[in-house]
Amino acid sequence: MKCPFCNSADTQVMDTRANNEANSIRRRRKCLACDKRFTTYEKVELHMPRLVKKDGSRTDYARDKLAGSMLLALRKRPVATDAVDTALDRIEEKLRSLGEREVPTSRVGDLVMRELAKLDKIAYIRFASVYRSFETPDDFSVAAREIKQPRKRRK
Ligand SMILES: [Zn+2]
Repeated sequence: MKCPFCNSADTQVMDTRANNEANSIRRRRKCLACDKRFTTYEKVELHMPRLVKKDGSRTDYARDKLAGSMLLALRKRPVATDAVDTALDRIEEKLRSLGEREVPTSRVGDLVMRELAKLDKIAYIRFASVYRSFETPDDFSVAAREIKQPRKRRK
């Protein structure tokens, strides 16, 4: 960080404060060359990571699309739209907090499964059947068992 007065690179941070509403960090600095003080703001940016599909192609995260597949699984199920929105918020928050630039779509799928398991068991099985490409009736009973005994959280 260069001093805005004398351009010296020799500055010292005197105080650091988080500015939560603005998602920024405020730093009070002192220039060691000219002794002037100034304040800098660093924006904390938590981006949604891009998604890496099974075939290696990349795609942007799209809430609409994710909502679409969740709502499809939840079709005609007694689940409030608000609850779906909240679940989506939680998924997005988790994805952002990973701090990764890219995550595999399977990660998103797992997060959706976890949310659906809480929302509605039928929807969970419906989603799992598409997501994991169920082929045999056994796959369904495996998923049904998982609901009673959810899989251990993946890190
Ligand atoms: Zn200076």
